Amino acid sequence: MITTDVENYPGFSEGIQGPDLMVEFRKQAERFGTEFLEEWITHVDLQQRPFTLYTDDKIIKADALIIASGASAKWLGIPGEAKTPHGFGGNGVSACATCDGPLPAFRNKHLIVVGGGDTAMEEATFLTRYAKRVFVVHRRDKLRASKIMQEKAFRNDKIEFIWNTDVTAIIGTNEQGVTGVDLRNVETGAESVMNCEGVFIAIGHKPNTHLFKGQLDMDAVGYIITNGHSTGTNIPGVFACGDVQDSVYRQAVTAAGTGCMAAIDAERFLDHLPIELPSGEEVTIEGEHITPDRKLIITPDGEVIPNEPEAALVEE
Ligand code: NDP
Repeated sequence: MITTDVENYPGFSEGIQGPDLMVEFRKQAERFGTEFLEEWITHVDLQQRPFTLYTDDKIIKADALIIASGASAKWLGIPGEAKTPHGFGGNGVSACATCDGPLPAFRNKHLIVVGGGDTAMEEATFLTRYAKRVFVVHRRDKLRASKIMQEKAFRNDKIEFIWNTDVTAIIGTNEQGVTGVDLRNVETGAESVMNCEGVFIAIGHKPNTHLFKGQLDMDAVGYIITNGHSTGTNIPGVFACGDVQDSVYRQAVTAAGTGCMAAIDAERFLDHLPIELPSGEEVTIEGEHITPDRKLIITPDGEVIPNEPEAALVEE
């Protein structure tokens, strides 16, 4: 978690530090017997159950899988952008106005938002609640944002647009944090310095889903598609929650909420998996017996039905 001050997670009237919240989450999960493996997954096989996850030196099998790998804010990769002490990240540079905008450091200040999409418009509009003035710096002379979000931003007296311009560096000091940015006009090449006390990078997010490409259904950006109100994916037994499947709300509390949904979905899925008996027969939670050759299902009232998908039975 890169956010330090978390002011909008319920239950913490004075706010909480992001890393402290993580420690609390972990301790709470440990209290219920959760085992943690700190591993870097290199690839996955979701084509058959149990699913297989590979690390450099381990193979992990799972009957159900919950993916909560999140999304990463995209960064410009310019000097001054990195997290403190290497830059001003967390000390005037942020990628989340909802999380950081209300902090005292940004109140009544001149702030810059970089980007021209809906996120940039939303963040700029949100920041005007606290900032003295918000400057949207965009690399073209047209916005990518939806008409309605553009118009809302254009109507806002506190927002000013700086077109055809790149932010090439963020400047400041460790004591003061951000004090300004270097700008370059992409058409004329003219360079300038602009004073400001905060920079919000809003050039989009990248869901961390590369491991699952080709196996799970995703939208054009790479967010995992879940089914309606559930966290189920196109593969039964694989669930996705949090920012990896949510490009809209992206808050810690909404991620925790869908995490709870995924846990319930996975538990129900596992409860309904047949249990294998020493005879080779399998029994489901509904009391159905599946014969050792897996060809027939015997219902609790003795009816014998072929163990085939319903669609296959209808087609015959
Ligand atoms: P987008 O990809 O839509 O926009 C990213 C913006 O950042 C573009 O204007 C792009 O410029 C600019 N950009 C990208 N890379 C750079 C760079 N290296 N340097 C400078 N500028 C850069 O991302 P969003 O996060 O804005 O939106 C993602 C999706 O989420 C969209 O579908 C959006 O509609 C949706 N969304 C909806 C919201 C809502 O309805 N309330 C709120 C937020 C997001 P350029 O235009 O030149 O490519």
